[in-house]
Amino acid sequence: MRQKSVKGLIALGIVKGLLTLGLLLFFSTFSECGASGEVTNYSETLNQEQPFQKLNPDEVTTEWNDTYLFSSREDALKELETLKKKPEEINATFRPEFENLSGPVLLDYLETEKEFSKSIEVLYVYAYTQLSKNVSDPFFASLLTNSQDLLTEYGKATSFTTVKLTSLNKEEWDRLFSEEPKLEEYRPYLEAKYMRFSDHRAMNESQAIYLAELENQRMKLETEAFSEITNNVTMAGNITLENGEEYPVNSQSYNTLLSTDQNRENRKKCYEKRFYHLKNESDSMASLYSEKARLDDLDARELNYTDYYDYTLYSAYLNRTQIDEMNTVFKERKDVFEDYNEFRKNKLGLEKLKPYDLLLQLTDQPGKNYTYVEALQEIQNSYSRMDPRFNEIFLKMVTGNFVDVYPDPEHGKQPGGYTYSLCSLKSPALVFLNYNGLISDQKAITHELGHGINFYLMGNSVDYLYCSGPIYEMEVPSTFNEELFVDYLIQNSDKETAVNVLSQHIGEYQNYFTRQPMITEFEHKAHQLCAENGTASGADLNAIWTNLSKEYGSDSVEYYDEDSAEWAYINHIYLANNYYTFNYAVSKAITLSLFKQYKEDPETFNKNYIAYLSAGSTMPPEEKLKKYFGIEINRQLFEDAMDVVELRIQELNELEAKKSANESGSAAKSPNTSGFFWTGEYKNK
Ligand SMILES: [Zn+2]
Repeated sequence: MRQKSVKGLIALGIVKGLLTLGLLLFFSTFSECGASGEVTNYSETLNQEQPFQKLNPDEVTTEWNDTYLFSSREDALKELETLKKKPEEINATFRPEFENLSGPVLLDYLETEKEFSKSIEVLYVYAYTQLSKNVSDPFFASLLTNSQDLLTEYGKATSFTTVKLTSLNKEEWDRLFSEEPKLEEYRPYLEAKYMRFSDHRAMNESQAIYLAELENQRMKLETEAFSEITNNVTMAGNITLENGEEYPVNSQSYNTLLSTDQNRENRKKCYEKRFYHLKNESDSMASLYSEKARLDDLDARELNYTDYYDYTLYSAYLNRTQIDEMNTVFKERKDVFEDYNEFRKNKLGLEKLKPYDLLLQLTDQPGKNYTYVEALQEIQNSYSRMDPRFNEIFLKMVTGNFVDVYPDPEHGKQPGGYTYSLCSLKSPALVFLNYNGLISDQKAITHELGHGINFYLMGNSVDYLYCSGPIYEMEVPSTFNEELFVDYLIQNSDKETAVNVLSQHIGEYQNYFTRQPMITEFEHKAHQLCAENGTASGADLNAIWTNLSKEYGSDSVEYYDEDSAEWAYINHIYLANNYYTFNYAVSKAITLSLFKQYKEDPETFNKNYIAYLSAGSTMPPEEKLKKYFGIEINRQLFEDAMDVVELRIQELNELEAKKSANESGSAAKSPNTSGFFWTGEYKNK
């Protein structure tokens, strides 16, 4: 899922593209197997030392209360009209003042902009969230377009400030800070937004205005792509199941059938229905994508980057070497997953794994699912050893109409999940889900709540302008929550459930460490192709996707010989801030390292973790990681992550062996985990 905040749009201004941070997306395809089963004994793991307010099921809410933002559509329109006047007003006030820029003027400008930014955040979030509930709603489609246009107008009207502030040298900055001591509070913000971009700036107003227009076109393409994905790309048509039932294949039902139907023929039909449907859609999506790729790179080159990939990395405080090393480690060590694939194949009793065998839950009752409330209760238990603020924020969100829970693809609800920050209101974030009751859906809830907890902590700890961070950092709390959840289930379930949960989770590591970096590589190659040829066809992009799949994928899965168009439905590649998905891999690697610290010394970890999550962008991301956890993003981090994967696979095999021993009655009940996993043995490895 994604995470999003509108301030990103404004805070980053034209320099960094308007609509960036704050919306955190989730990848909608949790690959591989799933699991289910009864969860027991949870009370034993609760931390008895502090009172832990349990969730009251009667208080759980499942829909957003959009009146938190506006009491009516008319009010939103009124606010839009008010805000439309602001760009000109701000321009008229500050343009003359910027001629002789002084410290107090700059402070005044920052605070004026902050207020505008907070107001438009509310309007934008209202339009965006309501539109994702029905991508064809004309009112919200138009409100979103208008909000985007307003942002663009704002960017244009204030482009003189960006041009000026990115051009200042050190002496000039020193002078401004000495003239107005209150500016000191905004120093990290000014460094992150302006000083850092002195080599990647618009040189004059007309260039800045041109860039704002490019940005606007890119935002519109994103909206168009999401509408196409929801209405066409994921709507593959009907299949006839073996029992004669007609079954519509859409974004939701596809995953449900592949995860739960033990009839292999049904899975094959469903897989093929989508496989060929995506190929049919690939030309039209490729034409949309090519246009976007062209605009992305055009935008980036205007700002003195090699291409948009370069731009993304620089904005995230990362460099190519780090990501190349990451991809190298994951490709070199992809065979680590072969033991797991072997496990799955044996468990399913198959000769050879086919692509439609990878999602099926490894349990006797794969169709069994969990109610939303059951899922929340398990998630809450997984927070029992975390700082009490986790539970407090959790309760606020799930009982306060901040989560939109159930799928509704027939009425235009967009697939996937995301969390939209509402730091402007210091309120909990809005979480968008498509909950279907599978184990992967439960993990999706806790993933999004991780974003929500992070946003809430930031929003209530630091200035609004610091409620942000690069995507990989923002995906740490979400992916950390998944580890917490799985660890809790493994410790507190019967062995059958533990095996299922762990195997599903290892499948997800495979997703994080192979599929997600692969999507980014796909985007990069596709962008390069579009740059060379001006455009790319569906067949071109299918070929790139398929070749990369071979490089990253497993040889033990028998994929189809012909090219696949699986890229076509992946939301993230159409985002205005694209190259999103490699962040998941970086985050997950960091998360595994953090999780080890948590297991070794929860108390110290909790203290650092809360401070880390609350700090927002008050310091550069790499400094923050180092300060609180002593971690650096380098080859070692990724090697360590793969070591954890290996250990988890070993743990899975041990669990399965114990389970078989228990079943044959030859062994006494033994604990699910031997405890070796997070202890010194691992540290010494
Ligand atoms: Zn996320």
